[in-house]
Amino acid sequence: MRVLIVGGGGREHALAWKVAESARVSQVYVAPGNAGTALEPRVRNVAIPADDLPGLLRFAREERIDLTIVGPEGPLVAGIVDVFAGAGLRCFGPVAAAARLEGSKAYAKAFLERHAIPTAAYATFTRASFDADWIRAQRAPLVVKADGLAAGKGVVICESPDDAIATAKAMFAGRFGPAGDLIVVEEFLEGEEASFIAMVDGRHVLPLATSQDHKRLRDGDLGPNTGGMGAYSPAPVVTPAIHERVMREVMWPTVRGLAAEGTPYVGFLYAGLMIAGDGTPKVLEFNCRFGDPETQPILMRLRSDLTRLVDAALHGRLDDVDIDWDRQAAVGVVLAAGGYPDTVRKGQAIHGLAAAAELPGKVFHAGTERRGDAVVVSGGRVLCAVGLGDTVREARSEAYALVSTIGFDGMQFRRDIGHRAVARESKLARSHYSRNRR
Ligand code: AMP
Repeated sequence: MRVLIVGGGGREHALAWKVAESARVSQVYVAPGNAGTALEPRVRNVAIPADDLPGLLRFAREERIDLTIVGPEGPLVAGIVDVFAGAGLRCFGPVAAAARLEGSKAYAKAFLERHAIPTAAYATFTRASFDADWIRAQRAPLVVKADGLAAGKGVVICESPDDAIATAKAMFAGRFGPAGDLIVVEEFLEGEEASFIAMVDGRHVLPLATSQDHKRLRDGDLGPNTGGMGAYSPAPVVTPAIHERVMREVMWPTVRGLAAEGTPYVGFLYAGLMIAGDGTPKVLEFNCRFGDPETQPILMRLRSDLTRLVDAALHGRLDDVDIDWDRQAAVGVVLAAGGYPDTVRKGQAIHGLAAAAELPGKVFHAGTERRGDAVVVSGGRVLCAVGLGDTVREARSEAYALVSTIGFDGMQFRRDIGHRAVARESKLARSHYSRNRR
């Protein structure tokens, strides 16, 4: 089997590594990949950008690719699955009409409302319909979101109505380009966030292991929002009872609602949730893809053959498969470039990768490229070091042992990835983890 992975980040390195492990797979291509995918056995990079749909289609045809798995949201929202399916090629991900769940926050909110799926109260505005008086009448804080894709930056938490009005105006003035022509203003939800990621085949939902990411740049959840500074799995905030509620109140109604509206969803489906103190889950957002960095720790724990799961999804048979997880916890720590998440400094040599490769755990690459014999920084999130352990605390030690071998000029990382889980572990008996948890 010849597999193409579309994308070049840490998620795609993890997908390529996992797929290449399968005995059914003879060759994996990654477009465009990074320095990490270039070095994996049975994996080759191809210099085609992830948003070059005609180029990807041509490559898949010429190289007789049996299966394409799409990492990032951009090509999915742009319709890569429609293009490949039109050419008779198997491509795992939602069609453009279903990927709107991520591509348009206003569409997603209206969808949630139509199907009575719990989410924050909201209103949508264009520049023409903007109503500052409505905003002044709301209780702060308020969350202002650009409708379209804004590379994870189009969400602003505003401490006062005046702040929200100024943010809305900045969005209408083009701060996030056309993504901000339409905005969503919603109530601020209190609680603890969790990522709930599943594979979906149009009708069935196969939940993956739970996880939690860390969006803020600095320790203690301070500093600006980022694409994610680390993640771990499982996430104890998603207790078995909450897991059941999320499936019943969020995942099933979403998948059934999409099918009923004529846009059945196939692919990874990611619900970003806020779990209130009483365990009530509400949807913050949907992503039409696997999360980054959640993919890295989740796939470190996956024992099943990912290509078989994807095959089952493409045949509408996810109800037929079993999924096998390593009982160990996994913690992934992102190493980011200097200046991230604003203006990123690039080109610095990365040291210590060979030493890290001798240690347990795995370092996934993201914003890296090869320059001669060196590996250099080429993007904001550079690496993700993942450790495993019987507890989150032990997995975290393994991850930070990897981190301690690596260095590059300007390197930034958080020292507290997994802190909520570690705090919970300190409270709970150790036997908690030996139970059969996802
Ligand atoms: P989103 O891309 O919509 O998930 O938003 C990015 C981040 O903003 C989320 O991960 C939350 O940390 C935060 N956020 C978004 N919406 C809300 C909300 N209604 N209440 C509280 N925090 C929010």
